[in-house]
Amino acid sequence: MAPQQPADRYQLVIDQIHAAVMRYQRSIDSVALLAVSKTRSADEIAEMAALGQKKFGENYLQEALEKITALQDKGLEWHFIGPIQSNKTKPIAENFAWVHSVDRFKIAQRLNDQRPADLPPVNICIQVNVSGEESKSGCTLAELSELAAKIATLPNIRLRGLMAIPQSASNFDEQRKPFALLHEAMVTLNNEGHNLDTLSMGMSGDLDAAIAEGATMVRIGTALFGARN
Ligand SMILES: *Cc1c(COP(=O)(O)O)cnc(C)c1O
Repeated sequence: MAPQQPADRYQLVIDQIHAAVMRYQRSIDSVALLAVSKTRSADEIAEMAALGQKKFGENYLQEALEKITALQDKGLEWHFIGPIQSNKTKPIAENFAWVHSVDRFKIAQRLNDQRPADLPPVNICIQVNVSGEESKSGCTLAELSELAAKIATLPNIRLRGLMAIPQSASNFDEQRKPFALLHEAMVTLNNEGHNLDTLSMGMSGDLDAAIAEGATMVRIGTALFGARN
């Protein structure tokens, strides 16, 4: 039976992350939990925050801004993880500590130009389409090196790593493959002189496989908050 209380679900996710960290001989603090709170109310987020969760990920800008305003005294760290239209970059630059879904230079440049001077540089992950699906957002592996080199020149951006949302696979070994590719891509970029420390990969259904392949931030919605409508 699925646990019904947020505190139970939160503890189960923490336990699952710890078990995977042990199994794959990662250090205990090497995997951060990003709570994906799209469609969830400010009250549900406040409840999760009261359990100790500080990092929250949102996909839809308007909805996110309302919650950020409602929860501004809670010291939360907001991550934008959804598709980005270029005319919506300003509120993202003004309200988020991290953006995981940058897949073209124009977006990075606008975030850089619109980042308020009194805030630290915005942390960026480049979203990569590792499964090579036509319909998915994300740059291709072939485009990655040039895109990273250009983004790295922007002063108000801190290029932290890579993000992927692979095609779903139920088989564990199949789940691992795209995560391994993303990890390899980060190693390649670091060999080219970057200093990336973040692999944003793994969701409710594939977080063990992501941790096995080096995820440093797992983005969990359903397992924490229950099924979305
Ligand atoms: C919704 C979403 C998640 C969380 O997915 P769950 O399966 O609910 O854990 C993670 N990352 C992104 C980019 C999402 O849009």
